[in-house]
Amino acid sequence: MSTPPLLPVGLDLSDKEVVVVGGGPAATRATAGLLDAGARVTVVAPGVVPELGALASARALTWLPRPYATGDLAAAWYAVAATGHAAVDDAVEAEAERERVFCTRATRPADASVGGPGRVVLVGGGPGDPELITVRGRTALEQADVVVVDNLGPRSLLAGLRPDVEIVDASKLPRGRAMPQEDINAVLVSRALAGRRVVRLKGGDPFVFGRGMEELLACAAAGVPVEVVPGVTSAVGVPGLAGVPVTHRGLTHEFVVVSGHLPPGHPQSLVDWSAIGRLRGTVVVLMGVETAPAIAAALIGHGRAPDTPVAVVVEGSTGRERTLRTTLADLGATMAAESVRPPAVWVVGDVVALAGPVPVPVSAGGRSSGE
Ligand code: SAH
Repeated sequence: MSTPPLLPVGLDLSDKEVVVVGGGPAATRATAGLLDAGARVTVVAPGVVPELGALASARALTWLPRPYATGDLAAAWYAVAATGHAAVDDAVEAEAERERVFCTRATRPADASVGGPGRVVLVGGGPGDPELITVRGRTALEQADVVVVDNLGPRSLLAGLRPDVEIVDASKLPRGRAMPQEDINAVLVSRALAGRRVVRLKGGDPFVFGRGMEELLACAAAGVPVEVVPGVTSAVGVPGLAGVPVTHRGLTHEFVVVSGHLPPGHPQSLVDWSAIGRLRGTVVVLMGVETAPAIAAALIGHGRAPDTPVAVVVEGSTGRERTLRTTLADLGATMAAESVRPPAVWVVGDVVALAGPVPVPVSAGGRSSGE
């Protein structure tokens, strides 16, 4: 039983001929996605469900009301085998293979195994670029029946999943980001206990401020097997993409990654900001956009030089990535002047100066107008 591949990243199906073999619910789901993608869809099936019939009447697709026959993929760039009959879907896949047509199977023999043991794979998806997921993470995605996603990470990979994959958007569940972790845990556990192969796709690495361990423990408590696939954490990967190494021989022998979600002095803070202020090495702050001015002040207050260079990298690894360079003293003003919004990582330390000459500091304007 072969695993259906994901669509290659960035595959553009607009105005491309796509053949969907089958006329049931799986074919309907596949067709909806393909029409959204702008494909020219031909459905081959002796009978179709009313939704597909209506689309055919509206000329949104072409319906060939007959069984699949070898040669049907001749003009196709992409095919979907969705009859649910193993022999027919096998034949479609075989023709696709011969003719070098991308093909996915919307109804798979594996579906019949639902009810057997499920599992959860906690996948670190990297900072956002779909190519920065690991090979193992991507394979797990290809095999998933259910994918539970956050708002960070390589969400564009979802477009390439089989149409029958259930996508649970954890960032859109009730109460948004503040939704109780128990709700996410419950989704993971219930789907896995129903025999589904669940991927929990997370931004960066699952165990870096990602609540991955809570999910792992919830699954373990319910007797659900869990696999962990590490990811490229934004704490290291995002600065790296911007040309800022977190360590450099002869310059720094340490780097510390801190959550900035609570400001210094907050009663629930677990961070020893005075210790971090005394560090000579690299300080990487995640979730610290709003709190940047307070954190910078605390670091300076505890001994870090005000002119220590800082790089702020916003939406790293995406098409919207931008990097600001400033100093600890000017950090708040720079971020305000540049309207920095999350997600952003900021890095304090001499390593920032390695990346080349510091461009014209926006902090000059920020300082005169803001402070
Ligand atoms: N587990 C994640 C971090 C989750 S906390 C990891 O290992 O990367 C969320 C924070 O990560 C954001 O507030 C931001 O500080 C950082 N972050 C995640 N993705 C980012 C990106 N593409 N660009 C900049 N910062 C990012």
